[in-house]
Amino acid sequence: VTLENELISWLQKNLPPSPRLLVGLGDDAAVLSGFDQSQLVVTTDLLTDQVDFVLDDVDPRQVGHKALAVNLSDLAAMAARPVAAFVSLVLPRSGCANRSAGELAVELYRGMLPLAERHGVTIAGGDTNSWNAPLAISITAIGETTPHGPLTRAGAQVGDQLLVTGKLGGSILGRHLEVEPRVDEALLLHERYELHAGIDISDGLALDTSRLAEASHVGTLLDLSAIPIAGAARELSKRDSTSALKHALTDGEDFELVLALPPNEATRLVRDQPLSIPLTIIGQIIAEPGLWQLNADGERAPLAATGYQHRGNE
Ligand SMILES: [Mg+2]
Repeated sequence: VTLENELISWLQKNLPPSPRLLVGLGDDAAVLSGFDQSQLVVTTDLLTDQVDFVLDDVDPRQVGHKALAVNLSDLAAMAARPVAAFVSLVLPRSGCANRSAGELAVELYRGMLPLAERHGVTIAGGDTNSWNAPLAISITAIGETTPHGPLTRAGAQVGDQLLVTGKLGGSILGRHLEVEPRVDEALLLHERYELHAGIDISDGLALDTSRLAEASHVGTLLDLSAIPIAGAARELSKRDSTSALKHALTDGEDFELVLALPPNEATRLVRDQPLSIPLTIIGQIIAEPGLWQLNADGERAPLAATGYQHRGNE
């Protein structure tokens, strides 16, 4: 019996049933039903030990949770409803710490399944291999659009207000492993308000906001005094002499949403506060390209779009 066969039978016993999964694990490919009225939204992410996490320092369940959560965050950014996930694992042949490769795989899944269940995602397939190298985990998530269509980075208009969910910065102190993708929040907001554009914050508010602006061929003016700063950003600031605001602007892995919407809608939304997490207006869309900050004296100054940059092939 191979590792993969063992894992498939474990999964078949532990996966919740999904009415839309007509053919799932154990066949050559998955068959999913029920996409007649919606469009498919597909995203994929690859996480590697020593790059995205350090397996020796964390609970493998946290790694499983995070690997799925970052994908769901991308679906949330598109205002898509999650449907299925495909999980590919390349396990270190000798396992890790006191776990065999098979036990490690099961722990990764144990981290993933509660999150999958909360968001109605079925694990519809994947692949499992092992090698003499650190763990790599790749998940492809499939979602579907609602009747309101997909939300992209490209629809922001001059005059729009920029909103952010939650509080930002300091995720390295723990939140980066306990990512709560803003799926329900995105779907609710997309249904009740007129959203023009959205992005999730994976690499820092400044960098991801500038990506949204670039995709929309506009610029952004951030009101630095309005940025909601997480307690963890203040905590980190005490340790490393970088300001809490800088952490909120540039730290990666907040996985909150930045949204652009017309001013009257933004006002209504902030007044309603329809979520259990805060919604804050942090700036506006302007015609002049680039990322700008509003100083205390009301003047504009350029703001560096720095954040977490992936190092490519280094
Ligand atoms: Mg993203």
